Amino acid sequence: MAVRKGVRVSDRLGRPLQDLRVSVTDRCNFRCTYCMPRAVFGPDYPFFRSDEVLTFDEIVRIVRACARLGVRKVRLTGGEPLLRPGLEQLIAALRSVEGIDEVAMTTNGSMLDDRRARMLKAAGLDRVTISLDSLDDAVVRRLNDAPVSVRQILAAVAAALAAGLTPVKVNMVVIRGINEHEVVPLAEQFRGTGVIVRFIEYMDVGHSNGWRREDVVAAAEILDHISARWPLEPMPPRYPGEVASRYRYLDGAGEIGVIASVTQPFCQGCTRARLTADGQLYTCLFGTAGLSLRSLLRQGASEDELVSLIRETWSARADRYSELRAAGANGLEDGRYERSRRVEMPRIGG
Ligand code: SAM
Ligand code: SF4
Ligand code: SF4
Repeated sequence: MAVRKGVRVSDRLGRPLQDLRVSVTDRCNFRCTYCMPRAVFGPDYPFFRSDEVLTFDEIVRIVRACARLGVRKVRLTGGEPLLRPGLEQLIAALRSVEGIDEVAMTTNGSMLDDRRARMLKAAGLDRVTISLDSLDDAVVRRLNDAPVSVRQILAAVAAALAAGLTPVKVNMVVIRGINEHEVVPLAEQFRGTGVIVRFIEYMDVGHSNGWRREDVVAAAEILDHISARWPLEPMPPRYPGEVASRYRYLDGAGEIGVIASVTQPFCQGCTRARLTADGQLYTCLFGTAGLSLRSLLRQGASEDELVSLIRETWSARADRYSELRAAGANGLEDGRYERSRRVEMPRIGG
C-alpha cells in the first residue's frame, strides 16, 4: 500500500523497520515468575501512573509515523493488554492507519471469552497469540502465579478460534525442571486443531527474573522431545525476519514453532521496534534506554518531527544482544545492555 510521504529506513546492519510491538499497559493480573515475579512486582512496585501511560491518540500518532517509515504490522502486548479499558477503540484506530496491514495481540487469555473475542474481531483485530505454559493447574499456579485454571485458558483459545482471530498461536515458555515435561502434552493438545504452538526459550529479559543459562531448555532439545513422538520436518519462513522457526508434522497434523533466541539468535533478521506503555521507543528487547516519544508528543511535536527522530534512531541502530550473548562476547555489561538497567518485560512487552 502506498504511504503518504513514505520513506523506508534501514539500520546500520541493513535491517529495515517493519514491525512494532506496543505495550499498552505495564500492569498484569498474573505474576509469571519469568516475567513479573511477585517478590519484585508487589504492592509497592512503581507501575506507571495513568498520566504517564500513552493515550490511544498518542499511540496512533506514533504508529502513523512508524507506518511512514515501513512498519506494516503492529502487535499489542503488555503487561496484559486486555486490562486496558476500551482496547477495541485503539484496534479500530490502528487498523485504519494507512500502511498498517495487520494488528495482532499477545494475551494471557484470562479475560478472553467468546463475547470479547467477537468484539475484538469486529474492531479489526486480525489474530491473537495466547500464552499457556502447562496443561497442569498446579504448574500454572506455580509458574504463572495466577488466579486461573488451564480450562479457562483453553476456553480462550477456543473463543479466539471461533471468532476467526486466526491463525491462533499458543506461546509456551519452557523452563528446565519446571515445565519441560509439558512440552509433549502441549503439542498433543493442539495437534490437528489448526492452533500453532510456539515453544520459547527462556530469556534473560529485564533484571528481576533470576535467569540462569542452565534453566534454558534449548530449542533443539524441545524438537527432539516432540519429533521422537511425531516426526517433524522444517518449513520455510513465512516472511524474512520471522522469529519462530517453523516445523510441520509429517502426518499432516499441522505445524509448530520454536523461538530459539538464546541458542540460535536471529538478530540478523530483527526488524522490530518496541514501544513501552509510557512511550519510550526501544530498538532491542534487551535495551537500557529508549527514545522518549511521549515527551516529544506532549511538547507538541509534529508527525514529520516524529518521523525524522524515529528514522534517526533506527538508522543508528546496531543492536544484536542475543548474538553477543551466544558468542559469550565481552561488553554485554556495557551501558547498552547492562543487566541491572535493562527495561523490564511488562514495560516493553516481549
Ligand atoms: N501478558 C501477555 C501474555 O503473557 O501473553 C502479553 C505480554 S508477555 C510479556 C508476552 C510474551 O512474552 C508471553 O508469551 C510470555 O510468555 C513471553 N515472555 C515473558 N517473559 C519471558 C521470558 N523471560 N522469556 C521468554 N518469554 C517470555
Ligand atoms: Fe503478565 Fe504476560 Fe508477564 Fe505473565 S508473561 S506476568 S501474563 S505480562
Ligand atoms: Fe532483536 Fe535485540 Fe532480540 Fe537481537 S536481541 S533479536 S536485536 S530484540
